[in-house]
Amino acid sequence: MKILIVYAHPEPCSFNGAMKDLAVEVLTGDGHEVAVSDLYAMRFNPAGGPGDFLEREDANLFRYQREQIHAHAAGLFVPELEREMNKLAAADLVIFQTPIWWFSLPAILKGWVDRVLAMGFSYTEAARYKTGLLGGKRAMLSITTGGLAAAYAPEGAHGRLDAVLSPIHRIFQFLGMEVLPPFVAYGAARVQPEQRAAYLAEYRERLLTLEAVPPAARQADTVAPKS
Ligand SMILES: Cc1cc2nc3c(=O)[nH]c(=O)nc-3n(C[C@H](O)[C@H](O)[C@H](O)COP(=O)(O)OP(=O)(O)OC[C@H]3O[C@@H](n4cnc5c(N)ncnc54)[C@H](O)[C@@H]3O)c2cc1C
Repeated sequence: MKILIVYAHPEPCSFNGAMKDLAVEVLTGDGHEVAVSDLYAMRFNPAGGPGDFLEREDANLFRYQREQIHAHAAGLFVPELEREMNKLAAADLVIFQTPIWWFSLPAILKGWVDRVLAMGFSYTEAARYKTGLLGGKRAMLSITTGGLAAAYAPEGAHGRLDAVLSPIHRIFQFLGMEVLPPFVAYGAARVQPEQRAAYLAEYRERLLTLEAVPPAARQADTVAPKS
């Protein structure tokens, strides 16, 4: 399998860094072809806008999706985006290795989503959900949280983790991707070292059995809407 790991943590010695390194080691050792987008190391620009394009279709009025469609057709994305799109196009599976920040993605990763998953390239007006242009690919979140598992239980302080991850999973579903269940290291900085070691051992196991992991149940409301 060709696997792309999109990694979003500013510190190489972080637990996220350890999970990314483990994934590269285990997946490569298991015979997969692994590419990594280390967003902080790349100094990936998270701000989508006119700077995404070598040339504009309309130099007077900026309409982001319209420019994305034009750039995709004419090959006018800046090299930073062209490279990421090529890596994504080649991948069978994309693993997003990231901490949860503010019940969502860190800005640098959200910026990758905004800029790389461009209209024309990953979806069109007509091609979304089941017909999304990234159909045939799979996506998996591998995340760490600050909150312990109890805080993400139904009656916990933060509510169910499913609800936090649902808008992120919807992005992948919108593009036609199959969503694998997330791998979660709860309270990564707060648990005992033994628990962190257990997380890494569990993650190794998950990585070695990726092809057998059934997709997460599709949410009932992810059928393509009429408009
Ligand atoms: C802006 C911001 C917003 C946030 N919002 C939320 C939120 O909404 N919800 C929430 O739950 N949390 C939130 N957090 C907390 C955040 O999710 C956690 O701090 C993060 O997930 C912890 O992961 P880390 O990789 O940064 O851990 P680190 O702090 O880098 O690492 C944790 C521990 O792992 C150790 N470690 C590193 N490598 C290894 C290894 N190979 N083996 C064993 N141990 C190792 C480190 O030494 C450290 O002790 C937020 C944090 C920030 C900065």
